[in-house]
Amino acid sequence: MANWQRGVMRLMRIPNHAVTVTVIHDYTPCYRRITFTAPDLVNQLEVFPTLWLRLWVPHPAKGEGHLSQRGYTFVDIRPDEGTFALDFILHEQPGPAGDWAKNAAIGQRLDVALTPARISLPEKATEVILAGDTTALPAINTWIDAIPTHLPVSVAIEDDHDDLAGLPCAARENVTWTWVGPEATRGAALAAHLTGSEHARPGLYAWAAGEKTLIKHVRSVFRDHLQLDRSSQFTQFYWIHGKATG
Ligand SMILES: Cc1cc2nc3c(=O)[nH]c(=O)nc-3n(C[C@H](O)[C@H](O)[C@H](O)COP(=O)(O)OP(=O)(O)OC[C@H]3O[C@@H](n4cnc5c(N)ncnc54)[C@H](O)[C@@H]3O)c2cc1C
Repeated sequence: MANWQRGVMRLMRIPNHAVTVTVIHDYTPCYRRITFTAPDLVNQLEVFPTLWLRLWVPHPAKGEGHLSQRGYTFVDIRPDEGTFALDFILHEQPGPAGDWAKNAAIGQRLDVALTPARISLPEKATEVILAGDTTALPAINTWIDAIPTHLPVSVAIEDDHDDLAGLPCAARENVTWTWVGPEATRGAALAAHLTGSEHARPGLYAWAAGEKTLIKHVRSVFRDHLQLDRSSQFTQFYWIHGKATG
């Protein structure tokens, strides 16, 4: 099958950058950080919270040599060392990116592409909510690094693993972390938690990312319960339960 995604990116003149695996570290059996060296790419990065890339991974089910793209969030960018890392959820369902990460080896090379859409905290923000599932944890950590320490931040993540204490969570004063166990409907428990929490308004900014149904629930809380307008909230779905990205 033709690599139409790569064709579209070429037409849009979006360049690819080669990156090489240098370190593989498992925080838990399901959460793996892979560090890449890519000095040219790292030196041209304009860093802002949630900055992500498109990783081109082999997709053998679509044909020999076929590459598919998947979104992953930059973490631990080190310009002096020319390195950055990506945190991978090693999910059970097969998928080219998750499978690649499970089998990654030092020295492996991949291509990545950038299509940054800048996001920043509104100047009027006095309090921040960061929510989602564990795919949003890398982005949440980048937010916490960027938000001024005097602003209170409430993090709420829906996940039922029993080894959550092993995950990398940015430490900083004025941040509360809440892990919410899921109910039958994905996102319902997270929405209930957010609805039951007290927050300052105006000045509240809310951001969320994760699975599509979960985000639908969280978006309703932001919009209908917290009554946040578009300038005070941002939500993005990162993946769809039971459906491959393409
Ligand atoms: C902007 C952006 C940033 C992202 N950042 C990160 C990040 O930093 N770290 C990260 O791990 N993910 C991140 N994601 C999500 C990641 O791109 C998706 O999880 C993607 O579907 C993984 O691709 P795959 O090839 O492994 O699986 P796919 O081929 O897309 O899907 C195969 C199967 O696996 C299931 N699946 C996919 N992802 C998950 C999951 N997380 N948990 C359980 N089941 C899953 C699907 O429902 C499907 O059944 C990000 C996505 C976007 C759009």
